[in-house]
Amino acid sequence: MKARVVGGYLVTSDGRIAHFLEKELYVGSNWMARLSLPGVEEELVDRLEACRLDANAPILITSGVRTKNSNIAVGGASNSLHLTGGAADFHARGFKPWDWVSTLEHVTFRGSIGRFGIYHADQGGHCHLDIDTMSALRRFVKIGTVYHPLEQWVESHFPGVPIPDVDPVKANRLLGF
Ligand SMILES: [Zn+2]
Repeated sequence: MKARVVGGYLVTSDGRIAHFLEKELYVGSNWMARLSLPGVEEELVDRLEACRLDANAPILITSGVRTKNSNIAVGGASNSLHLTGGAADFHARGFKPWDWVSTLEHVTFRGSIGRFGIYHADQGGHCHLDIDTMSALRRFVKIGTVYHPLEQWVESHFPGVPIPDVDPVKANRLLGF
């Protein structure tokens, strides 16, 4: 279901005005094309807002709903949820990719409802959040062109350490920060 928009702001499924203007989800030239683009999924607004509240920090959307061409330009997957209003990439001042893991685990129920990824500095150093529930890859770390399952990446660098106990400084360093 597409999110409602009130006064330019996206609205959550329980009727709260989110901290995000609709315009923020159509960054760059996508705003000019928005009338031919799908609306933003309400489930995505719910999760972005939960991130915003959990982190208590302004979130900068770096990529939201994309046109086909803008998706190709950034090397997005051809079936990307960015094309249907169900995905957003973001970062926030003072946050590095690993700093978002516990929040993203929480808002996606550990990747069971919704999917997330954190990106190496060379890949933008941002987070990806979407509303997918079907893909095998539920939560990932993107380094170079490879999507590593989060569990596998943690096990290879922090053997035997549960995800919540990973040293964030070391993890962020491995992610180029
Ligand atoms: Zn993305």
